[in-house]
Amino acid sequence: MKKEFAVIGLGRFGGSICQALSDEGLEVMAIDIDEDKVNAYANIASHAVVGDTTDETVLKSLGIRNFDHVIVAIGDNIQASILTTIILKELGVKDITVKATNDYHEKVLSKIGADRIVHPERDMGKRIAHKIVSNNVLDYLELSDEHSIVEISANEKIHGHSIIELDVRARYGVNIVAIKRNKEIIVSPQANEKIQKHDVLIVIGADSDINRFEKRLLGD
Ligand code: ATP
Repeated sequence: MKKEFAVIGLGRFGGSICQALSDEGLEVMAIDIDEDKVNAYANIASHAVVGDTTDETVLKSLGIRNFDHVIVAIGDNIQASILTTIILKELGVKDITVKATNDYHEKVLSKIGADRIVHPERDMGKRIAHKIVSNNVLDYLELSDEHSIVEISANEKIHGHSIIELDVRARYGVNIVAIKRNKEIIVSPQANEKIQKHDVLIVIGADSDINRFEKRLLGD
């Protein structure tokens, strides 16, 4: 059976989630307290409903318990976001993702049992900063406070060298988990795989090790 999603709060963040889920052909209910926002998503979501989600009876009447995943994208009104999340938990929603606006908000959400907390502005800020400060980093995904997956473009310093020659695991403590070559992705490349011009390396490891790898091997 197709998974059913509900998105609460149709600002820029919630709205884009709603659009992306619909584009994937998934069932999504869009909910907002503001009728204009709801009207804007009437043709995008499977259902679009006006409602105040801090009111338990509203959520109950929408049968919110039956949704596989509910995304709370109320940002600015922290109180409404927290209250909505508490009610969703109490009603037994299985999977709840909530957008946090600041660290305090995030802490409270984690205490009340939100399954996933996202902090889009902060995370995107970090990603962009990484790309700006490094010539080689194309993209970056934070796994924890200290670990990341990074896409790094291979420069001429390592072209023609195999992974075993570069000895990245022993020397830098990082792993090359995939290589993007033209339109292909080589997953778990063999040790004798030679790095080619225009290759993009997908590297996983501790941030400090990735930095060392990048500076020593790829630095100017
Ligand atoms: P974004 O940064 O994602 O664009 P925003 O600043 O436009 O967000 P927010 O104030 O974060 O908007 O709220 C997102 C949406 O949540 C708004 O459309 C708002 O009407 C809706 N919203 C706020 N409170 C409630 C509530 N109690 N019930 C349902 N929807 C709500």
